[in-house]
Amino acid sequence: MMMNAQQYEDSLRKLNLKVYMFGERVASVVDDPIIRPSMNAVALTYELAHQPEFADIMTATSHLSGKKINRFTHIHQSVADLVMKSKMGRLMGSQTGCCFQRCVGMDALNALSMTTFDIDKKHGTAYYKRFIDYLTFVQENDLTCDGAMTDPKGDRSLPPHQQHDPDMYLRVVEEKPDGIVVRGAKAHQTGAVNSHEIIIMPTISMRREDMDYAVSFALPADADGITYIMGRQSCDTRKLEGKTFDIGNVLYGGHEALVVFDDVFVPWERVFMFKEYDFAGQLVEQFASYHRQSYACKVGVGDVLIGAAQSIAEFNGAAKASHIKDKIIEMNQLNETLYCGCIACAAEGHQEPCGTYYVNTLLANVHKQNITRFPYEIARLAQDIAGGLMVTLPSEKDLLSPEVGKWVRKYYQTQKNVPLESRLRILRLIENLTLGTAAVGYLTESMHGAGSPQAQRIMISRQVDMNAKKKLAQKLCGITEDN
Ligand code: SF4
Ligand code: FE
Repeated sequence: MMMNAQQYEDSLRKLNLKVYMFGERVASVVDDPIIRPSMNAVALTYELAHQPEFADIMTATSHLSGKKINRFTHIHQSVADLVMKSKMGRLMGSQTGCCFQRCVGMDALNALSMTTFDIDKKHGTAYYKRFIDYLTFVQENDLTCDGAMTDPKGDRSLPPHQQHDPDMYLRVVEEKPDGIVVRGAKAHQTGAVNSHEIIIMPTISMRREDMDYAVSFALPADADGITYIMGRQSCDTRKLEGKTFDIGNVLYGGHEALVVFDDVFVPWERVFMFKEYDFAGQLVEQFASYHRQSYACKVGVGDVLIGAAQSIAEFNGAAKASHIKDKIIEMNQLNETLYCGCIACAAEGHQEPCGTYYVNTLLANVHKQNITRFPYEIARLAQDIAGGLMVTLPSEKDLLSPEVGKWVRKYYQTQKNVPLESRLRILRLIENLTLGTAAVGYLTESMHGAGSPQAQRIMISRQVDMNAKKKLAQKLCGITEDN
């Protein structure tokens, strides 16, 4: 059954998550004013799936049941599916203007479909069937899964088993007849408290000595022993001020959390990797490549920022200036270049032995590398066009004040026919996207999400066939011996 937004919200209410924010337990996660906009962003992934005009992008046919499902729970069955996934990212980013969080679970499911199949083939295990049973459960209930990879990592110069504190990477601490007990944490978890399920994967490739850390499994988000500690975002407490336009994006937001596993029991039927350290690296690489494709989302957020920049230029009476027009062209050129990358890595995808379609990893990494740069340049241009008022603007309360409101109105009016409030709202949106809560998603997450820039550079260097390139050059200038 495909849930709608209301059913999704109701389903979250049934969970009993242990969430902390500002040092206190959050009483109702769904109703919390800081968390709720992020819940609304995920809810839109459910809502748009029911709208006929978005059906091609937002839904797919399950290869397991033959039923129509939300694409966020789908295992890609063709190159066309991969391309639709990139389009879905852009669409959702453009509708929310933030991180809508649901991609991590989709990417974890697709990566696990391949890795569990390959582990079974080498080791004669039975993970793939377990995984398919789990996937059936996720698809039938239209669940949101948090795909959790990043460990705190402690001292970066040491592997997991040599850390001063052995919990710096999530690990198996006990093996029982009916399952395992795990301890550790996952950091920066996007959408964690809006998820029904949490899927754990290792964060780096591992050797025999790190065997206890090579573990992958899925749990209900409210399983005993899991605690969520919400990350702060710049300007987050503006959301406590009520319905003020100072929030910038008055509809949606994203969130990240530190997720702690304090000796949590996982039944065997939910375990997808257990000490097969030789497959930790593969799972990391496959999840990361899918998630690097998912950064199609930033193209959609870029659409919003470009629209905001054009709007403020018009409100200011500056839209006809040739340098403004040129900056808008530059923003579009950069944003569409990003779009090329996420479409290309999908269009060049291929089928893996288990049947799942996988992106071209070189192009997915190139795409994500561009994402670590172009949004910063697009944001710089947006700030250039917006002008300084974006950061010196008094609050909405000053605008409404009987004493000083008249001065704010008088001195911040631009063209006669432009409502002042429209101008101020757009400025707050640009502030939100480039400095406020949404800058987490558009800028820093673009830098570090799905792996920091260096991780992509390593992958690019591994994937490029340098010998073939050398041969091309040497052939054309007449070098015949191999060099
Ligand atoms: Fe999805 Fe983008 Fe958020 Fe990652 S950053 S979860 S790809 S919206
Ligand atoms: Fe992300």
